[in-house]
Amino acid sequence: MTIKLSKRLQHIADWVPAGSRLADIGSDHALLPTYLARSGRILHAIAGEVNPGPFDAAAKQVASSRLEHMVQVRRGDGLAVLQPGEVDCITIAGMGGSLIVSILSAEPLKLDGVRYLVLQPNVGEEFVRGWLSKNGWSLMKEQIIEEDGKIYEIMYAERLSQEQFTVCEQQLYAPYMLSCGIMLDETWLKLMGPHLVKNPSEVYIQKWQLELKKQERIIQTMANAETEDAMERRQRFVTHKAQLEAMLACWQKDKQ
Ligand code: SAM
Repeated sequence: MTIKLSKRLQHIADWVPAGSRLADIGSDHALLPTYLARSGRILHAIAGEVNPGPFDAAAKQVASSRLEHMVQVRRGDGLAVLQPGEVDCITIAGMGGSLIVSILSAEPLKLDGVRYLVLQPNVGEEFVRGWLSKNGWSLMKEQIIEEDGKIYEIMYAERLSQEQFTVCEQQLYAPYMLSCGIMLDETWLKLMGPHLVKNPSEVYIQKWQLELKKQERIIQTMANAETEDAMERRQRFVTHKAQLEAMLACWQKDKQ
């Protein structure tokens, strides 16, 4: 039986290094590890699932693909399904950035021996970038794709030596100036993606146009802000929106 991945999962699969011992946390139907095992790209995999329905679906998928010798399905919360040193690559995809961060933070010892992370937060990408920086992971690549009207960001991080990590961080998060003179500091780069913002694709620009509309709606709902706190909060949104507008204008100008 051939396994056809969605465009999103295929991009994630493509970034799993060949020969990996993989853990796919929050694996749902275990499509990703099954595909990678079937294609011979990984040595073996653990598919972790906390919820019974997806756990059963994963077990069925592995059994019907006759890959039990390569993919083990384990039930548990986040990294609890792993023994230290068991895998060298972890994928976590299709959940919010805060949940990904809480999974990665819960059991630091389980990350011993892990060299590669491929992460795909649905929202809250900045939390994931912040966690990577704080925990010594170098964000080597990012990409943004669109599938079925949804936009996804995929991140690939490696654990390098301390020295290499420091150099990488300095390069990633040094203040960056757009062609029209707007300076982006580390906070903005963590929000926008240090790789993505330096080479903005059509999908990337579309993402920030949608984000701008979201900000406009939030500002409208705060139109009647009366307390000092509420007015300050509104002002922060207005400033943020103005910055986004300026960036979008800048990219439009670059395209002409
Ligand atoms: N990773 C797959 C993908 O990208 O297509 C499935 C994504 S699905 C939307 C999220 C899955 O994560 C669900 O099956 C859910 O049960 C599982 N999940 C959520 N929190 C989890 C946790 N703390 N530990 C393990 N699995 C979790």
